[in-house]
Amino acid sequence: MPTDRIFYGTVSYGIAGHLVTVRRVHSTGSFRIEGFQHDRRQHATRVRVRSAILRAGRPEPRGTILLTCPTLPAERWSSATSLDLPIALAALDHDEFRVEKAICIGELDFSGELRAVRAALPFAQVALREQLPIICPPGNASECLLATQHVWVSRSLTDLLTVGSWAPPLEAYPEPGVHVEDLSLDEVRGSEAAKTALRKAAHGRKSILLLGPPGSGKTMLARRATTLLPRTVTQTERLAIATVYSTAGLHKPGPAWRPFRAPHHTASSAALIGGLRGHLGEASLAHGGVLFLDEITEFARAPLESLWPVQRDHCVPILHSDDPLPADFWLIAAADPCSCGWRGAEDIQRCRCSSNASASYQRRLDEIKKHFDVVVETESYRP
Ligand SMILES: [Zn+2]
Repeated sequence: MPTDRIFYGTVSYGIAGHLVTVRRVHSTGSFRIEGFQHDRRQHATRVRVRSAILRAGRPEPRGTILLTCPTLPAERWSSATSLDLPIALAALDHDEFRVEKAICIGELDFSGELRAVRAALPFAQVALREQLPIICPPGNASECLLATQHVWVSRSLTDLLTVGSWAPPLEAYPEPGVHVEDLSLDEVRGSEAAKTALRKAAHGRKSILLLGPPGSGKTMLARRATTLLPRTVTQTERLAIATVYSTAGLHKPGPAWRPFRAPHHTASSAALIGGLRGHLGEASLAHGGVLFLDEITEFARAPLESLWPVQRDHCVPILHSDDPLPADFWLIAAADPCSCGWRGAEDIQRCRCSSNASASYQRRLDEIKKHFDVVVETESYRP
């Protein structure tokens, strides 16, 4: 039995895809996979692939499958389920699968159905770079089509082994329609100065801090701020946003859509910034849109200190990688004027802060203000 036929898969690190070659190096002995860093991951893959092969009516797989990725050390592979399909094809008799060269992605479930995987768009970018077609599950087709037209869709391992059963994806999986944001800044009553400041700050995405008492519409204003950014998302920006959302395994509503991310003030540095082991944080998920930090004075110092350089450089560096994570967002934050919230709004409610509490809050606020291009006050609306 020949042992030299190569199949192609992909893994991701950060938002970059890497080509993995998958080949059977021994055709006898028990079914093994070599190349994964973790035994547990190897075991889980082996169980899924074996079950899918048996459910496809093929004989018990035997031999050793070797995975190699010249551009990424095994300990950095963040997505391994994407390799199920090429591993299964390498484990089958070689003549069954007649496509000479293609990148195959997809997680096999125990019944042999193909499930969508994270990072399909970066994987399709690898296919484009290598000038290979990509075979993917139906759930990944629209993402892959953003990078390349050479996309074939397969629902299951059995479908794939039946030549000619691939669905042509172009008509069947169009991109979702243009998402039109319905919210408008004019719906928020009062705070005219803040609205004007937001409209001005939107040009050049100048960072803006909204200061005002509870109920003065700070969150409502921030939520509507994405509508102030240009309606037309550029091709580069659109691809970058789509790549981030594909990598995170999140749904992106449409091509003209801009993200709005509002992490809670308990967010850790890892959650806010990401970067560790190539994982995406809120800063990258807000790329091309708005990152809104409500109650910014409540955030811990460490995550905020990590945020300022990211905001300056528009990207998050990743250890051992030349491809930083994109993080070009419009930063909008909100804070109360004092710790009880009512300073300056005594006509509504009296400020109950002690002089100590007030001084300490002001010091914290002053530290934060230094990092913003614009600071503007919001007012409670009184009809
Ligand atoms: Zn107060």
